[in-house]
Amino acid sequence: ILTVTNLTKKFGPLVAVNDLSFSIEKGNVYGILGPNGSGKSTTLGIILNVVNKTSGSFSWFNGETSTHEALKKVGAIIERPNFYPYMTAIQNLRLVCKIKEVSEEKIEEKLALVGLLERKNSKFRTYSLGMKQRLAIASALLNDPEILILDEPTNGLDPEGIHQIREIIKKIANQGTTILLASHLLDEVEKVCSHVVILRKGVKLYAGPVDGLLASHGYFVLAANDQIQL
Ligand code: ATP
Ligand code: MG
Repeated sequence: ILTVTNLTKKFGPLVAVNDLSFSIEKGNVYGILGPNGSGKSTTLGIILNVVNKTSGSFSWFNGETSTHEALKKVGAIIERPNFYPYMTAIQNLRLVCKIKEVSEEKIEEKLALVGLLERKNSKFRTYSLGMKQRLAIASALLNDPEILILDEPTNGLDPEGIHQIREIIKKIANQGTTILLASHLLDEVEKVCSHVVILRKGVKLYAGPVDGLLASHGYFVLAANDQIQL
């Protein structure tokens, strides 16, 4: 689905992403794991065309179409969800759909998927943070993207909210949608992801399956969590 090759991003003297290469295959759940400032969000921003790269390249869907066209098949939440507070969930999604031309059935299907169908007529401002995040996920799924990209999807949520979001991510993955999420929590990656790219200071330490990672590469995880100096 995505190939990233020797991607580098500099902010002045700071190298936020340093010669990063990895690829994403259909049907898997990928994590980008690293401590604060390791370049996770910058990487997501680049592949979503909202941050300009310094050098290197990335290619969506084998370069079959332009990045602009390719991104129509990509759902992403890289900021805190933002909806109209005095409108209900379903009104907010209908507004999104005015642009995307999505049926009412599709809206309800996605609300059900994130467990918000019963609350579809509640105003957004009455939603908990977890519900807001779930509504954002529903919104990102409205046009059935091939891949869903999430930046720190459980940040700021309580344990129940975290659990719900993780279960929803797994459900979406089981329906065949590829997932790419950024997280600074090893625990999150272990619970949700099949594959992981570990970053530290913009440098890739590991890319591969999560299975057996701790046993064979515990060292990398420690490094990613900034507990040892590389
Ligand atoms: P976090 O866990 O805090 O979200 P992150 O892994 O997403 O961290 P990035 O946000 O990608 O990290 O930032 C990587 C580095 O680039 C950091 O040192 C950050 O301060 C720097 N950086 C990010 N955006 C900018 C910018 N617009 N201008 C200057 N420096 C930036
Ligand atoms: Mg970030």
